[in-house]
Amino acid sequence: KGPSERRPDWLRVKLPSGQKFKEVSETIRKNNLNTVCSEARCPNMGECWGAGTATFMILGDVCTRSCSFCAVKTGRPVQGLDWDEPRRVADAASKMDLKHVVLTSVNRDERKDGGAPIFAECHRVLRETIDGVTIESLIPDFRGVWDALQIVIDTPPDVLSHNLETVPRLYRNVRPQAKYERSLELLLRCKEQGLRTKTGIMVGLGETREEVIQLMQDCVDHRVDVLTIGQYMQPTKMHHPVVEWVHPDLFAEYKEIGEALGLEHVESGPLVRSSYHAERHV
Ligand code: SF4
Ligand code: SF4
Repeated sequence: KGPSERRPDWLRVKLPSGQKFKEVSETIRKNNLNTVCSEARCPNMGECWGAGTATFMILGDVCTRSCSFCAVKTGRPVQGLDWDEPRRVADAASKMDLKHVVLTSVNRDERKDGGAPIFAECHRVLRETIDGVTIESLIPDFRGVWDALQIVIDTPPDVLSHNLETVPRLYRNVRPQAKYERSLELLLRCKEQGLRTKTGIMVGLGETREEVIQLMQDCVDHRVDVLTIGQYMQPTKMHHPVVEWVHPDLFAEYKEIGEALGLEHVESGPLVRSSYHAERHV
């Protein structure tokens, strides 16, 4: 058996259950929303949903890209922007009693604006609906169309997140339609306009320790505030294989090295996802 079949003990988690979990599922279903939690088959669903929190995935459930680690459907979205979505997100967040809301989205490369106006509208409606809400938005790279990015920056979230996902050498296989330099530039542009910035990577895809350290240095050079590092898990057999189960000691070492290099906060552990314990990153 390859490493994909043998999950080490530190990755065993509780199955989703309980009253709160049911309430969250109901609210999401009734509001006709998607979450990255279930789309990505996140191992933390038991914990997060059981505690009444979730990460909304906006702009539909069909993505124009085909990252090899990701379980979201690839295709050409048939519909335009759903202008009612921000209202449904705010309604669900308010029913779930969320004080910190995390949003992410599929990529909408078929559109010049990449769907950016819906992010901005979500930020506006959420602030109007929930007093004192804080928001983290994990945004796509908008293909480097900086006018689209500017729409998000002009109605900003409290934390602007954009994931590098992996080291540059693996982009061709893991994130074929993305560019490492472009993602770094996006993070720097947001920082230069006063936003708090965050990025995330997965490990276990075949990267080396040295490459992770270099990536952390690149984050420092592009003034990233928060970095999350978690174990990659293969959503189905069709996806990129797990090359390595990274030991918890190495995760701890990455945190230590990253913070010594100058990152304000590195959240690093096998079960860490970019939206995991996100309320701590505001
Ligand atoms: Fe959802 Fe993020 Fe929690 Fe996973 S870690 S269940 S994606 S909120
Ligand atoms: Fe998945 Fe995001 Fe890649 Fe689309 S761009 S395939 S949603 S990781």
